Amino acid sequence: MATVERILAEVDRAADEIVQFTVDLVRMPTVNPPGDEYESCARFLGNHLRQRQFDVEYIVADGRPEHTARHPRVNVVASRRGGGGPVVHLNGHIDVVPPGEGWTLDPFAGVVRDGRIFGRGVCDMKAGLAAAVYAAEAIARAGVALPGTLEISGTVDEESGGFAGVAWLAEQGRIAKARTDYVIIPEPLNVDRISVGHRGVYWFELTLVGRMAHGSMPFLGVSAIAGMTEVLSAIRQELEPALAGRLTSMPVVPEAARHATINVNAIEGGQPIAGIQSPCVADRCRAIFDRRFLLEETFGRAKAEIDALVKRALSRVPGVEHELRDLMVVDPVQTPHDSPVVSAVERAIGRVLDRQATLVASPGTYDHKHVARIAGIPHCIAYGPGELELAHQPDESCRIDDLVNATKVLALATLDLMGAGR
Ligand SMILES: [Zn+2]
Repeated sequence: MATVERILAEVDRAADEIVQFTVDLVRMPTVNPPGDEYESCARFLGNHLRQRQFDVEYIVADGRPEHTARHPRVNVVASRRGGGGPVVHLNGHIDVVPPGEGWTLDPFAGVVRDGRIFGRGVCDMKAGLAAAVYAAEAIARAGVALPGTLEISGTVDEESGGFAGVAWLAEQGRIAKARTDYVIIPEPLNVDRISVGHRGVYWFELTLVGRMAHGSMPFLGVSAIAGMTEVLSAIRQELEPALAGRLTSMPVVPEAARHATINVNAIEGGQPIAGIQSPCVADRCRAIFDRRFLLEETFGRAKAEIDALVKRALSRVPGVEHELRDLMVVDPVQTPHDSPVVSAVERAIGRVLDRQATLVASPGTYDHKHVARIAGIPHCIAYGPGELELAHQPDESCRIDDLVNATKVLALATLDLMGAGR
């Protein structure tokens, strides 16, 4: 049998093990926030890989404020050295979002039913981690010598920005341009789609300060809520239509996310609603906004536009002072569509699924940003099992077929990138 057939056969033979490994991961409630069970999950992955001839390191983000004795931020990086060929790094986050309401089954039981595995984080992205681990395993079981080095990492905190996870590994030089050639992140984007990047993110906080007065004589005060009303109305009437008219050339999915967007994430003003009320004009109002910007817009222009809009809107409510504070800025990233990592995964999808892969970009950000910006690695994509729409939903699940097929794709693409059979 040719190498490719042997590897595909080994993945098929291991299907039950892959499912069980995914179930084992789901049963560890690595909920973030706050960051539960990270160490046991990292050790579980590390122990498994050490038994399979990987060198295993645990990298603790001890310089980060979110790393505490109660919730240690423990990452695991495993590597198996083969020939002198390229280094392929498969990275998955071990954290999952809280289960939330609306489940019809136990989110951490790892129920297998109707050709699917159910549980919080199974789709995003414990199935992806299992696919990475078994891609490596199938290559080994097929008796194929690695022409390069294969690395698998399980990292923390992707759901809260990844600063103690992939960003930390990149800052420590563990994922770096000098030592890492290609990075594949098995996030759930559907089994025949490759994500080349994501839009930009600008989170900002707007605080308005007015002047307090007796609520029976509001004309004596300056309402910060009135100021915020003007800002929100300008966003609805001026900014939103303008953003809807801007279209990126990046293949963002879903289609509606190909435009720039803004969301009001939180708002509070005046006295705390839950407290006892006294009649007062609200002297403070604060809101947090989530602006997603396009590659073509740039952060500088997105911010200047907000700044001008706020000033214009507040000119209609004399006496309101304002402060605009940046909370998070992530520039858009995009891997060139002709990157070897894109072509290798495209070829593998064609071989395994007999389908043309679709290139997409994610509406939201993920750890790709740290790989591109901090580690400086130009060749990074996201590809993995699981349907994007099911991520973070109640009764989250992953199709077993997709899991098996993604494992095959990752195995073939990894070898391809290392230069096997060229
Ligand atoms: Zn994810």
